[in-house]
Amino acid sequence: MRLQKKSIVSAAIFATMMGSLSVADAADQRFITIGTGGVTGVYYAVGGAVCRLMNKDYKTTGVRCSTESTGGSVFNVNAIKSGELDFGLSQSDVQYNAYEGKKQFDKDGKVADLRAVFSVHPEPFTVLARPDAGVTKFEDFAGKRFNVGNPGSGTLASMEQILSEMKWTKAKFALAAELKPDEMGPALCDNKIDGFFYAVGHPSAAIQDPTTACNAKLIPLEGAAVDALVKAHPYYSYATIPGGMYNNNPNPVKTFGVRATVVTSAKVPEQVVYNLVKAVFDNFDDFKKLHPAFAHLDPKEMVKAGNSAPLHPGAVKYYKEKGWL
Ligand code: GLU
Repeated sequence: MRLQKKSIVSAAIFATMMGSLSVADAADQRFITIGTGGVTGVYYAVGGAVCRLMNKDYKTTGVRCSTESTGGSVFNVNAIKSGELDFGLSQSDVQYNAYEGKKQFDKDGKVADLRAVFSVHPEPFTVLARPDAGVTKFEDFAGKRFNVGNPGSGTLASMEQILSEMKWTKAKFALAAELKPDEMGPALCDNKIDGFFYAVGHPSAAIQDPTTACNAKLIPLEGAAVDALVKAHPYYSYATIPGGMYNNNPNPVKTFGVRATVVTSAKVPEQVVYNLVKAVFDNFDDFKKLHPAFAHLDPKEMVKAGNSAPLHPGAVKYYKEKGWL
């Protein structure tokens, strides 16, 4: 685990250098890392916003926060399990499957120490196509070159669940590419793929760039398989990507999706989780300004929606103080 206690000696030197910190304060320094996603997604912005607010209080809390760009939800949960990360962003479906030991966590078993902290923005499943691909609905990608998501992403995990509900396999595509989020837009505009799937908040640079650079089109994701998934699983809900949010896409597009959540391990100390939650919610107006996808967030909903693992006690403590639980 990257929660390191600095030695008293180095802390004392640091305190002397800083002048304003007592030895006791400095000895309690901790470094925490939040696993996010690709830099063109929204997880990266969530991690950056949380760390920015936490680090403002560094002198009083002793907690120094940093973010890491990662492969996404599944990677983050596994890294929290192994102690490599202290916090991470995870789709609500991945959080559910990890805590229950289902789907992609079936083989290694339940991530019993996984704890929810709060949920963030909705992540509508987003399908983008080249304007010349001849695609108006998801089924039209049969026989075409499609990016299903990179290994370790929640995007790929969700795609696999959708394909399985449709009774499709990746063999249905001429190419099932696994490019990372920052590679998908360029590959689409360079005509290396016909479309891609991305579970992401809006607006996101990963969608903004190809809609602007090569007139890429949002494709709806609806029908019997989608209805069956939404009905069967509590972590799915219908969603609409608003018309005009992206260039060359004036009409609203129907789809469904999950929520982004922040998760941690039961092994992370209560005070550290409390400090993180307090930094976000004591400064919530500032937090919301740090990315347009946060504009509609409501703290009372963030405490409840999308969290299927138990809330970490450090988060519960703050939410009870606020009267949200
Ligand atoms: N939901 C995506 C995943 O876990 C990441 C989205 C983002 O980085 O904003 O694969």
